[in-house]
Amino acid sequence: MTAELTAQVCVVGGGPAGLTLAMELAKRSVSVVVLEQSGHFNRSFRGESVSPDSVWLLDQLGLLDRLEGEYAQMHHMEIIDSGSTVMRTNFADYDYPHPYPVELPQPALLSALAAAGREHDGFTLLQSATAVGLLREGGESGAVTGVRVRTPRGEITVNAALTVAADGRFSKVREMSQLPYEKLPLDRDVIWMRLPFPAEWDSNTYRIRIRGGEHGLFIPTHPDSVRVGMNIPKGGLRDLRSQGLSALHERLDRLAPELSDTVREVVRSWSETSMLDIFTTVVPRWSMPGLVLMGDAAHTLTPILGQGVNHAIIDAVTLAPLVEQAFADGGSPAALGRAGEEFQRSREEAVRRSRGLQLRQERLFALDGKVGGAVRRSLYRVVDRNRALQHRVLARAYFQVQQPGPIVARRIAQRPSPRV
Ligand SMILES: Cc1cc2nc3c(=O)[nH]c(=O)nc-3n(C[C@H](O)[C@H](O)[C@H](O)COP(=O)(O)OP(=O)(O)OC[C@H]3O[C@@H](n4cnc5c(N)ncnc54)[C@H](O)[C@@H]3O)c2cc1C
Repeated sequence: MTAELTAQVCVVGGGPAGLTLAMELAKRSVSVVVLEQSGHFNRSFRGESVSPDSVWLLDQLGLLDRLEGEYAQMHHMEIIDSGSTVMRTNFADYDYPHPYPVELPQPALLSALAAAGREHDGFTLLQSATAVGLLREGGESGAVTGVRVRTPRGEITVNAALTVAADGRFSKVREMSQLPYEKLPLDRDVIWMRLPFPAEWDSNTYRIRIRGGEHGLFIPTHPDSVRVGMNIPKGGLRDLRSQGLSALHERLDRLAPELSDTVREVVRSWSETSMLDIFTTVVPRWSMPGLVLMGDAAHTLTPILGQGVNHAIIDAVTLAPLVEQAFADGGSPAALGRAGEEFQRSREEAVRRSRGLQLRQERLFALDGKVGGAVRRSLYRVVDRNRALQHRVLARAYFQVQQPGPIVARRIAQRPSPRV
């Protein structure tokens, strides 16, 4: 006989979106089962750049103190194009309670969220538990009433008034629900690697280097390394690999010659690299009876300006009170349906703005040739000189949720971060 669990909400996916939502629901006395296919939280090359708004939210949720020592604040962002610094942002110039993005490894974030969730009755996290089917009322196209789950001990079912798909950019639940979506591939992919942090760099600066049509992101990674992401043509990994590792090393030489020796010492096989297929997903409808999509499952973004974790966390804190209210109103399918629709209405404009900013940024990175390069450098210089414009551009990614804040709160946020 198949084992059964019942909860008010079943969340599929224990990433930043699913765990934040589950913690917030359990805090509000809504019973929740989270299903996570992995048996652990060890992920690398994933969502470590956390935007200032999310840092502020983590603070509001009481998590920032628990994460003390696990993250590093970033104080500057610097763009060097063809050897010249064309833009430098000092986050201290922004008068918000939390002006600084942080680098926070996902294992630390996810462990803290799970620990905070477990402090509440009604929070259940099942790891090594993979959603493999949706339970539907009255046949294939009926309302979703829960999930079939594969575990090492056999299959179980979770019955729930509301199922939430927080299962990431390749969402299986979205696929099974047959909610339509459009995947928009970008023209280029990114290849990632991790290197020891160079002694001559300060550890609180995001570095972006551009040369011709090539760019690299150099992200200090807590506690002692740097994540390097370099663009390659869409689907171009096979081609690059056929040229041998030296082609990868030489690509980095052009962007950051100071890393030339290190990359040859550390990256001696392709297994030291990770390829990210860059696309963004547009889902016209984020909910259907009994089901809501959130996080990457509802709106996959690109890595530019670290927006994925940010939107995942904002989704969770937006959805939790709506679901709480729907249950307080009786938890009928209609009340839960309205909560799902309200959730999408509240969130989609901000997601659309981030996506627009990322796509414009990607087009700028890709400009090539003499004229293209000159246009890009001029644009960055204009934004560099005009503080109000720089604020408007950055606010779309970093300051959507916090209100400009009292200076005293900022001083607290400015505590020295652990050395990277
Ligand atoms: C290489 C890379 C680098 C990135 N860097 C950044 C960054 O620096 N900053 C940033 O903000 N964003 C970054 N992102 C994006 C960021 O990781 C995501 O936007 C963010 O994690 C989305 O959170 P989520 O909870 O919606 O999805 P995810 O974090 O993808 O979590 C989904 C979870 O669902 C689980 N799951 C999937 N299918 C099932 C199933 N059938 N049953 C049960 N569980 C399932 C998965 O194991 C996973 O744990 C990066 C992404 C990648 C791939």
